[in-house]
Amino acid sequence: MTSGGRAALEPTALEPTPLEPWVLRRAGATDMEGLRRHQLRALRETVARARRRSRFYADRLAAVEPGDIANLDDVARLPFTTADDVRREGMRLLCVSPGAVARVVTLLTSGTTGEPKRIHFSAADQELTVDFFEHGMSVLAGPRDRVLILLPGERPGGVGELLARGLERLGATPLPHGPVGDVDAALDVLEAERASVVVGIPVQVLALVRRGVSRGRALRLASVLLSTDHVPRAIVSTLERDWDCRVFNHYGTTEMGLGGGVECAAHAGLHLREADLLFEVVDPLSGVPLPPGQEGEVVFSTLTREAMPLIRYRTGDLSSFVPGPCPCGSRLRLLSTVRSRRGDVAVLVGGERLRLADLDEALFGVDDVLDFRARLGADGEGEWLAVELLCEGGSAGQGGGGAALPRRTAAALARRVALAQQFDRQPLAFAVGSQPRAKVEHIVSGKERLV
Ligand SMILES: [Zn+2]
Repeated sequence: MTSGGRAALEPTALEPTPLEPWVLRRAGATDMEGLRRHQLRALRETVARARRRSRFYADRLAAVEPGDIANLDDVARLPFTTADDVRREGMRLLCVSPGAVARVVTLLTSGTTGEPKRIHFSAADQELTVDFFEHGMSVLAGPRDRVLILLPGERPGGVGELLARGLERLGATPLPHGPVGDVDAALDVLEAERASVVVGIPVQVLALVRRGVSRGRALRLASVLLSTDHVPRAIVSTLERDWDCRVFNHYGTTEMGLGGGVECAAHAGLHLREADLLFEVVDPLSGVPLPPGQEGEVVFSTLTREAMPLIRYRTGDLSSFVPGPCPCGSRLRLLSTVRSRRGDVAVLVGGERLRLADLDEALFGVDDVLDFRARLGADGEGEWLAVELLCEGGSAGQGGGGAALPRRTAAALARRVALAQQFDRQPLAFAVGSQPRAKVEHIVSGKERLV
């Protein structure tokens, strides 16, 4: 693959992220102090409007007067909103009439109530998302780029379609595809369309890279945007090596309005969509806000959302603010790459912590591994860790590199994960996927994996 975008972007690599002037303009500000004033004003307005228009917030914020919020630190005086609130309360969170809702996104994630989460957006809310996508993508793509979109939602109002609209405004050529179902077919599209940029979910883009290598295709892209809550470093390294491209993380959830923050060329963390969202990092247990450098749960409040504002929404994602300014020179707040979610940490019998992110880094670094499923259990012999691998190129017993896979995987885990004691008591159990051409959409995603 060749691209004009790469050469065009390199000389400006360490200029402040293009998100900064956009955020300031959206905030009607010329400096960071002005941005903070906008956030305070918008937070007060959001609280006042939510109390007035949403039956849920009328109850939840009954004791709060918008005037109580004298500065941005006072956001900590407001109660949290949880995923269970959204599941349980549904339409009671709405601040507009149902007729003003342009799009409802239903999220079938696990929860204590079994109800799906439904997030409502107005046309104005969607416009803000398109605006963010246009300026967020300008970090890594330019007018000459052809951008293959491997995200769901190709229909009007879906994430793929909103991203395509943002890219068109940027002058780039969007190539909407949808999630990778057939890896070979997606690889053929990538080549036939001469895509220079790919946007996708980490394990699906990894599958494309691995298949390209196994088919002997030398591909070269300008850049890749990986969009999810957690991007394993091992996947980034593989993409950089095998596609000779720059890899950027995007952090965003449906609740955030699909976009939250994106890395700049310095790759020091995520620059946040601060005109529209106020982020906090809080202690997951006490709920107390944490200073930069300390890891806690990411919490955000919407500042400009019309249909369904969320105030102090607990994401369940764990991260920290990066102290000091970004090496790119921007003074926008910088959020560390999200490493894991609450609940993705298992405490072993000996008290050691095992993070899903540790397994990600160990296992995605092993050539051929496309995805995995891990289970931690205990029996009379002690604790055990069972790892099922889905691999490119065949199962463990079918020759090639496969035969050595359990050994290589165990070695990778031993290097990266503090589980030596567990290895001594009980060897790892492996089941290697024997269907290398399985549809990637059926690969277990990070949130559904068990540790
Ligand atoms: Zn930066």
